[in-house]
Amino acid sequence: MPYLTDPDDLGSLLPGEPRFRADQLREWLYDSPVLDASSMTNLPRIIRDRIADTLWPFSVEAEQVADDGRTVKWLFRAPDGAAIEAVLMGYDRRVTLCISSQAGCAMACTFCATGQFGFERHLSAGEITAQVAYAKAYITEHPLPDSPQRVTNVVYMGMGEPLANYTNVRESLRRIIDVMDMAARSVTVSTVGVLPGIERLTEEPWQVGLALSLHATDDRLRETLVPLNRRYPIDDLIEAVAEYRRRKGRRVSLEWTLMDGVNDTELEALRLASIALELDAHVNVIALNPTPLSPDRPPSAMAAREFVEIVAAEGANVTLRETRGQDIDAACGQLRIRQAGEPTGVPG
Ligand code: SAH
Repeated sequence: MPYLTDPDDLGSLLPGEPRFRADQLREWLYDSPVLDASSMTNLPRIIRDRIADTLWPFSVEAEQVADDGRTVKWLFRAPDGAAIEAVLMGYDRRVTLCISSQAGCAMACTFCATGQFGFERHLSAGEITAQVAYAKAYITEHPLPDSPQRVTNVVYMGMGEPLANYTNVRESLRRIIDVMDMAARSVTVSTVGVLPGIERLTEEPWQVGLALSLHATDDRLRETLVPLNRRYPIDDLIEAVAEYRRRKGRRVSLEWTLMDGVNDTELEALRLASIALELDAHVNVIALNPTPLSPDRPPSAMAAREFVEIVAAEGANVTLRETRGQDIDAACGQLRIRQAGEPTGVPG
C-alpha cells in the first residue's frame, strides 16, 4: 500500500532492495505520479508487479466529466467500502483540486448533502494525499482543455470537516507541501468553525489558506444551519480567524452559501461586509446547491447578484462563484469552488 506508507519509510515495502529503490518509488508516488505502476519505468518489473494492485488505496468507482472537459469528478472506493470524492476544476490560469478529508461528516449542517448522510470515518493521511497524487497523475495523462497542465491549487472542500480530523489532515499537509513540493499558499483548508483546530493550524509552520464557512452573522440563525455554532459561536471564530490572519500574514476567506429567504437579506449582507472588512477577508458567495433532505432553495440569479453588490458597495472584497459540474451533481451537494481570483460567475 504505497500511499498508506509514510513517505520516509517506503523502504519497508521493498525488503532486500537497495535504498535508492525507495527514493525512486518516492519520486513516482509524489514528484511525478503515474496512474499505473507499469509506467514506473526505472523500477524492475518485479517491483512494479508487486505494488501494481495496491498502488492506490482506493478503486475508481466512477469518473464523471463536465463543463466541456474542464471539470472531472471522481468517486473513489476504499476496500472497506468508504466513499471518497474529489473534483478537479480547470480554469484559464489555474487548476483546482477539491479533496475529501472524511468519509461522511459529523457536523450535520442542514443544507449539506454530506452532513445529511452522517459520519462514516476519518480518512487517513495516505488516503487524503492519494487524491492529490491521483489528480496529478490523471492530468499528466489527460490534460484539461485550455487550462494549465498541472494541479495548481488544492482545497479541502470536499466531504468532511478537515479540522475534525486534525492529525491526519496535518500529516496530509506535510506530504502535499513538504514531500510533493506544492506551495503552501496554494493549499486551502476550509472549516465550519472547529475553533481548537483553527488555533492548532495557526501554530503550524505552513502558510496555508484558511476558509471559514460562515453562512450567517447572527448566532441564532447560524445555529439553525450549523449545529457546531452552539459550541463555537461567531465572535470566538472571528477572533481565531483574525489571529490566523495576523500570524500567517495572509488573507483568509469567508464562505457564504446563499439560501433563499434564509441568509440573503440586506441586513445579513451589511453585517457580512462589516465582518469581512474587520478581518480583511475575501468573501466567496455561492448559491445553494439544493439537496434532497433540506427544503432550502437557492435565491434567484438576480437576488444573488444584489446580495453580492451590497457586500461590495460596503467596500468588502467579494466574489460570486459559479457552480461547477451542475450536470454531474449526483450525490455530492457541496463540491464547489471558492478560490479567490476567478471571474465572477452567475449561479445557475
Ligand atoms: N467542512 C468544511 C469543508 C467541506 S464543505 C466546511 O464546512 O468548510 C465545503 C464548502 O461547501 C463549505 O463552505 C460548505 O458550507 C459548502 N456547502 C455545503 N453544502 C453546500 C450546498 N448544498 N450548496 C453549496 N455549498 C455547500
